[in-house]
Order: sequence, then structure tokens, then C-alpha cells
Amino acid sequence: MDYQQVINNIYTNLKNFENKGTVASYIPELAGVDINAFGIHLKLINGLDFSVGNAQQQFSIQSISKVLSLSKAFSLVQNKLWSRVGVEPSGNPFNYLTLLEQENGIPRNPLINAGAIVIADVLVSELKNPKEDFLKYVRALTNDDRITYNYKVAQSEKRTGFKNFAIANLLKSFGNLDNDIDTVLDFYFHQCALEMSCVQLSRAFYIFANHGKCLKNKQYISASQVKRLNAIMLTCGFYDEAGDFAFDVGLPGKSGVGGGIAALFPGNFVITTWAPGLNQKGNSLLGMKALELFTTKTGRSIF
Ligand code: GLU
Repeated sequence: MDYQQVINNIYTNLKNFENKGTVASYIPELAGVDINAFGIHLKLINGLDFSVGNAQQQFSIQSISKVLSLSKAFSLVQNKLWSRVGVEPSGNPFNYLTLLEQENGIPRNPLINAGAIVIADVLVSELKNPKEDFLKYVRALTNDDRITYNYKVAQSEKRTGFKNFAIANLLKSFGNLDNDIDTVLDFYFHQCALEMSCVQLSRAFYIFANHGKCLKNKQYISASQVKRLNAIMLTCGFYDEAGDFAFDVGLPGKSGVGGGIAALFPGNFVITTWAPGLNQKGNSLLGMKALELFTTKTGRSIF
């Protein structure tokens, strides 16, 4: 199959799409991103790469980082995680509070904010220098030391992330946060402020397509843990649009409000997109369309 041709066609078809959605502005530092940016990158399991558009340009990966932090925490504390966070889709927006109170401070899953904040707490407890060590992990996965946090974005969210403070306080009140709120949220805001390009993101997600091993064949998490992480991505990776993503695209994946999406077909490929305009559910509008076209045109989805 001529993958370059396939992604070129998708790019050309969508590039001038009139409705590109809306750039997230609730984190002020993200508001200035160019709505016309659009990139796609495909990495096959054999390492071959195909890129189009702004695939090399870095962007704020935001919630996509939740899969990376979860993989690190899962490898460190194993199944102990699941007493503190569930694995059911929430059917609600990423920063929804009500469910957390109803369910006694146990977040529905690790990919909504409440769950990711619990995972951040685990990493703050387990890592010696949490922010440095987590960055090292991501750099090692991608084999790329240029990856770093955007400190302005982290500060911007720290100033305005009132809902995340509310979530952390609620978690703390239920005894589901071991460390102090400011330390955990400082870590969480930094992990979300990681900047990566589609190319780098494809490398980072390669372990989820390759039974836990990176391109250099190093095992980061077990094959059985990858099975579980992919299941969580499929059922919970797109806020309250996870069902739509599974229906339209048919791949496990994760989106972020920076407009990125990383998706994968175990044993086959990783595909990443970046288009900062979001739909009403907070997922990249062009990214969702591009991935739907990709799996439909190539017939390559897990279903
Ligand atoms: N840092 C963002 C927040 O917590 C991430 C949201 C997202 O990408 O879904 O609000």
C-alpha cells in the first residue's frame, strides 16, 4: 500500500476544510496557536515513517501525556493502581466533578483529569525527582533529548486550572491523594505541558503498538500491561466521545486539547495527527476526520 499517497490525499482533502473547530483558550497560553496548522505522521511497526504537513512542529500534548504517565505508574506499582482508579468510561467531559463525589473519590478511569491526577500522585510518590525523571522516561521512549516541558504553558494552567484544583481537593478529602495538592498539580501541569511533534509522539506511542518494546527493542512495560493500556485508550481515550472514536476510527488512542491525537493498531502501526481546532467535545476536529479517512481507506482498524 502506498501510505504516503494515502496520507497526502487525506491532508489535501481536509486542509482547506472550512469548519476547523475552535482552538482551546481556557489555558490562555494555548489560545495563540495557529488554527491552520495540520500534520499527520504514520509509523509502521517495522520503523518506516510517512509524514505530511506540520508533522515536525511541536505542540502542547496535554492529555495525551496521561497515557505516558499511566504507563510509567503501571510499570512501577503494577495492579495496585486499580484500587485507586477505575477503568470504566465516564461518558462525561474530562474535567467533570460530580461523578467523583458520587463515587467517593475513586475516578472512573486514569484518562479523565481526576484519574490522571491520582496517577500524578503515584508518580510524585514513586519517583525521586518526579518532573526530571518523567521527562527522562519520555526522552528514552522516543530516543530524543530535545523533548521538554513548555514552562509558560504549565504556569498558565497553574494560574487558571481552577477545576483541577477542585478535583485535587475532592480527591484529597476522600483520602485518594497522598502528597500535597500543589506538588501533585505542579507535576500534572508540567506533564500536560510537554511539547512534542507528531513524529516524536509516534515514537513515544510505539511501545503500545509493539507489546511494550521501543524501537531499540527495550521492554518498558509488559505485553499484558500494554493490552490493558490499549483497552483503556479504546474505551476512555476521547472524553465523552470515546464511543464515536471507536465507531468512526476503530483504534485505541488518546487526544489532547492542544489538538493532538495519537492512535495505534497493535502489531501494525502508530498514527498521530495535529490540528489545533477542537470540536464541541474537545477533540481535534480535523484529526478525528483524518483518522476516520485513514482507517476507512486502508481498511486497517482493529475491527
Ligand atoms: N491540562 C489539561 C487540563 O487538565 C488537559 C486537558 C486535555 O487535554 O484534555 O485541563
